[in-house]
Amino acid sequence: MPPGDRENIVILGSTGSVGRSALDVIEHDGGVRLRAHGLSAHSRLGPLVEQALAFRPRSVACSDPAGAAFVADGLKGSGVEVVSGRDGLARMVGDPAVDRVLTAIVGAAGLEGTWAALEAGKTVALANKETLVLAGPLVMDLARRRGAKIVPVDSEHSAIFQAMAAGRPGEVRRVILTSSGGPFRGKTARELASVTPEQALRHPTWKMGPKISIDSATLMNKALEVIEARWLFGLEPDQIEVVVHPESIVHSMVEFVDGSIVAQLSPPDMKLPIQYAFTYPDRVAGSCPLLDLTRAMSLSFEPPDRDTFPALELGYEVMRRAGTAGAALNAANEAAVGRFLGGEIGFLDIPRACRRALDTHPFDPRPTLDALWRVDAWARLEVGRWKP
Ligand code: NAD
Ligand code: MG
Repeated sequence: MPPGDRENIVILGSTGSVGRSALDVIEHDGGVRLRAHGLSAHSRLGPLVEQALAFRPRSVACSDPAGAAFVADGLKGSGVEVVSGRDGLARMVGDPAVDRVLTAIVGAAGLEGTWAALEAGKTVALANKETLVLAGPLVMDLARRRGAKIVPVDSEHSAIFQAMAAGRPGEVRRVILTSSGGPFRGKTARELASVTPEQALRHPTWKMGPKISIDSATLMNKALEVIEARWLFGLEPDQIEVVVHPESIVHSMVEFVDGSIVAQLSPPDMKLPIQYAFTYPDRVAGSCPLLDLTRAMSLSFEPPDRDTFPALELGYEVMRRAGTAGAALNAANEAAVGRFLGGEIGFLDIPRACRRALDTHPFDPRPTLDALWRVDAWARLEVGRWKP
């Protein structure tokens, strides 16, 4: 591939877990197909400066001017442009040279960049699932209007996206999302009452950022993912199922009307779905480990424990209600996870706080984007002052 044909990629949230894996993918490619065209981060800006010096993107974006000044100082003489704020971000992703935008910012804060990328008609490699939980119908509608593709990066959705290619959309009976079960699989509610943030952050099969690690421990991550799947693939709520698969090898499955189930398997490593979203529709050899089927292994499946992990049910409820319910659940969860990590509330209080926010929020079945942001702010405030 000549250099002019390389995919110019913007990585929003490049200092995070997904962002760093994405830069590993680009580094391993060695400049053949992929180029880091833009990077962004929010805090811990030292690593952003180091990334920019190593990958020499055209520009880097910081959330605020103070951060941008710090980064500009570190990049003096490098020729890398430093931008900040909403306009700077929109300019970076809207640059005509940009081909794909990886949205790897955590939380509702990721919506802005995803929105700007879709508005500019870019192909979005979507890691930021909260975008679709908050505003799924509006985001999918924007993508349709702008003719922008969304290629999922979340491993389950990447698996479904890949398996979907085995049939036509009308031939899909249901999708089955797999869940590792998290670090507390098999525990009782009694045992969970006293778990610490440190224990909850220790995921058995994936290495991820703190927020999604806690979400994986409560199974809120799977709740967010069923909502993500609903909007991403245009499925009805009763077409989406969850099964616990502790080995995290089968990343999800699609069942077609004839009863065939098509699955995607690989070792648990985010580099694979990230790379696929960068090269789609092509597949290329990469740096991901291969599954060694000459070694004995077993793959097991069991139903999720919905009583001990009530967060999962919240996801189903939100998926059925739609409207502002996703905004309320997502923001309540972000606030509750923050309080749990800060030692203010217990592990089991996370789904409790979310339940309350969901039940008491001013529900609107057909919200505008502004209305969704109002519910987001309301839920953060409510959970912030909620007393267990
Ligand atoms: P992380 O906490 O490791 O990194 C988050 C990144 O977002 C950092 O670069 C940070 O600077 C940036 N950021 C944080 N707040 C911001 C804000 N207000 N404005 C702008 N930038 C901000 O998170 P992560 O684990 O890499 O996850 C990123 C996203 O990908 C999440 O939505 C998560 O659900 C999703 N995801 C992650 C994994 C994984 O393996 N880590 C897997 C699937 C999906
Ligand atoms: Mg996932």
